[in-house]
Amino acid sequence: MSGIGSWKAEEFPRGAVIPESGNSRDYVTGGWRSERPVRSEEKCNQCLLCFIFCPDSAINVENEQVTTFNLDHCKGCGVCAAECPQDAIEMVPEGCELPGVNG
Ligand code: SF4
Ligand code: SF4
Repeated sequence: MSGIGSWKAEEFPRGAVIPESGNSRDYVTGGWRSERPVRSEEKCNQCLLCFIFCPDSAINVENEQVTTFNLDHCKGCGVCAAECPQDAIEMVPEGCELPGVNG
């Protein structure tokens, strides 16, 4: 068995290196969410603070306007609801639209 001194540079293991930056969009990570955000268009003044604070880039914006939540990547952390100055975002339990759940 050869020693580490004989390794070529390209043979060293990569540590904490993401060779394909931006690849997180290829992975659906919203599966463990227990709550999801719902936005009131009436209350929202399009300040975009929710978009800025979302740690998962899960808020879709078009033409500088919040449009939808990307539920493939929203983990339900509630940061957007906590930061919204208009109280325009409510966190609702997943599955609450199902009969018999949450009344
Ligand atoms: S933080 Fe609230 S008011 Fe601002 S864009 Fe988001 S939902 Fe709308
Ligand atoms: S609940 Fe969390 S992950 Fe989902 S949109 Fe709001 S801030 Fe982003």
